[in-house]
Amino acid sequence: MLPIDLAEARFALSTVRRAALLVRQIQNELVLSAQTKVDRSPVTVADYASQALTARLLAEAFPDDRLVAEEDATSLRQEAQTALRQQVARYVRLSLKEATSERVCEWIDWGAAEPGGRFWTLDPLDGTKGFLRGDQYAVALALVEAGQVQVAALGCPNLSDGCQPDHGGPGSLILAARGRGCWITNLQSPGEFRRLHVSPQGDPAYARLLRSFEKGHTNPEQVEALQDALGLRCEPVAMDSQAKYALLAAGQAELMVRLLSPARPDYREKIWDQAAGALIVEEAGGTVTDLDGKALDFNAGRTLVSNRGVLASNGRLHAQALQALRSLGF
Ligand code: AMP
Ligand code: MG
Repeated sequence: MLPIDLAEARFALSTVRRAALLVRQIQNELVLSAQTKVDRSPVTVADYASQALTARLLAEAFPDDRLVAEEDATSLRQEAQTALRQQVARYVRLSLKEATSERVCEWIDWGAAEPGGRFWTLDPLDGTKGFLRGDQYAVALALVEAGQVQVAALGCPNLSDGCQPDHGGPGSLILAARGRGCWITNLQSPGEFRRLHVSPQGDPAYARLLRSFEKGHTNPEQVEALQDALGLRCEPVAMDSQAKYALLAAGQAELMVRLLSPARPDYREKIWDQAAGALIVEEAGGTVTDLDGKALDFNAGRTLVSNRGVLASNGRLHAQALQALRSLGF
């Protein structure tokens, strides 16, 4: 039984499940079984297929709602991409019979809306580097209204329902709705839902810190300096995608930080990279802000232009982590 009785929550859960299963199938067929060295093309197929499917299902379920999603079909429409277009359509057809090469391009471009008012935001394949490595990745969908995330669903094919890495397992599906909590079930065969709660740990010595696996998506030296300043005994855990937020929500870690890469000091987070994960952590009892302690502003555009980086925590350690960031000048 779905623990949250909201049409939007039902839609988000079933859609993310379909997209995540499709993306997992593409990973199995195009990445894990590839005989030759894998290039980026499986990511492209999975990204496009997941976005086309989600956009089409959204238009059916909530025809008046807008979608702000990562991909657009400009390059997919080019003559030279005919084979790729057909491959994307072939995969989407596994979930939606009416998919054709022309339609998938049209559906993908339904994700080009501008944020504002009520809208959905989608990362069709978050953690593309993890996807190619056979590590963590996620499909993330969130409903935003008046700048606040209201509903979030996250599909993590390589995470157990205890939120531990579990490659090739049944995967997990996480759902949150504002004021109604955060829940997890099995991605492969959803059944019972279990409520998620952040870790009660209040001693930084025992806190576990999550960071991006990709060094270029964070600042590894600053992560180490933060670890020392807080007196954390364990090494930071490097992981791809919003699966990090799932660990935090499930009490498997206490802190997550997105520090700015020295190569990209002006980088601003994309809303689809943070919206679902942020609500999931908050509804499990945690806290999410930027590096300056400001709330994330999902009303500012396709990126979080008013925010710098992200700090997420179990709540109890948030003030100490912010204080450490401030004293280090990060
Ligand atoms: P992660 O899995 O934590 O490495 O985060 C993945 C997301 O990082 C991707 O979806 C990208 O949108 C985003 N990203 C890309 N470049 C950067 C960057 N320079 N700094 C931070 N995040 C980035
Ligand atoms: Mg992403």
